[in-house]
Amino acid sequence: MNIHTAINTISEKGFLDIDIDATTDLFAEIERLKKEKNAIVLAHYYQEPDIQDVADYIGDSLGLAQKAAQTNADMIVFAGVHFMAETAKILNPSKKVLLPDLKAGCSLADSAPGPQFKAFKDKHPGHLVVSYINCTAEIKALSDIICTSGNAEKIIESIPEDQPIIFAPDKNLGAYLNKKTGRDMLLWNGACMVHEIFSLEKITKLKIRHPKAKLLAHPECEEPILRIADYIGSTTQLLKFAVKDDSREYIVATETGILHQMQKDAPNKTFIPAPPNNSCACNDCPHMKLNTLEKLYLCMEYELPEITMEENLRLAAKKPIDRMLEISKAAGLIG
Ligand code: SF4
Repeated sequence: MNIHTAINTISEKGFLDIDIDATTDLFAEIERLKKEKNAIVLAHYYQEPDIQDVADYIGDSLGLAQKAAQTNADMIVFAGVHFMAETAKILNPSKKVLLPDLKAGCSLADSAPGPQFKAFKDKHPGHLVVSYINCTAEIKALSDIICTSGNAEKIIESIPEDQPIIFAPDKNLGAYLNKKTGRDMLLWNGACMVHEIFSLEKITKLKIRHPKAKLLAHPECEEPILRIADYIGSTTQLLKFAVKDDSREYIVATETGILHQMQKDAPNKTFIPAPPNNSCACNDCPHMKLNTLEKLYLCMEYELPEITMEENLRLAAKKPIDRMLEISKAAGLIG
């Protein structure tokens, strides 16, 4: 497909559908484009290994938001899903923010449509709205503070105890936080399709086969999985724990992309993906995995697809993110 036809079909396909010569060294080309365009590639831990290896920074939502807020690059290439690239644009209105595939969405963000959430909020006046960063710009604009799984506990603890709170959109993370902080937050009924399908039965069998393996779980997992976990934390916290801890074997209940960094940072340890309740042996996020090295290269070369946003929405969505960054800084969670 030629470039003009490819541009015309972006909204339908989500990416630039252009054939790449099979002899192209994509790693070298991406490095060249980074220099030529003063571009930075930010990648989430759930991206495929090749993308992680070419990224300037790999992190979870909190780290990526902070990096996006600090960068001097003219162009931010966001290898993650749509709400993450949107967050980068909210923080960097004058920079070009690119997403290799616009259809890289998120089931959790989709579970909180703006109009329905606004009606829910209006039904509960006097509540402060804390939203997990995995939500659309529209939901961010309706929120008072944003949080990530890495800072959620500190954010909730920074709010006076008698202040009623709505927590959105992840009911599993919300329930975990209610338990941890002793609050009774009102929970929006959303969930992540990746973290809610881990099989308790299969994990229990795996633990019997690997009695020394510790179970590491992300708080987006359902309560029965969290109950049997040896350690619960954000993706970055799980990675740090796996490196520092003195066990040799781990069962990892989060998206399998993180195993690449775990294996790199702790090469002598064994990491086993926790099985879901379907016929697969591991749990990949289909949205995250829509990005490929080829799409990353094409979006840098042609500077498309680009994330754009109406200014009033951007300003309203920025306020609760700034609040999160302030609280995280005061709590010593970020530099
Ligand atoms: S893993 Fe879950 S929360 Fe993360 S992008 Fe995929 S669907 Fe969304």
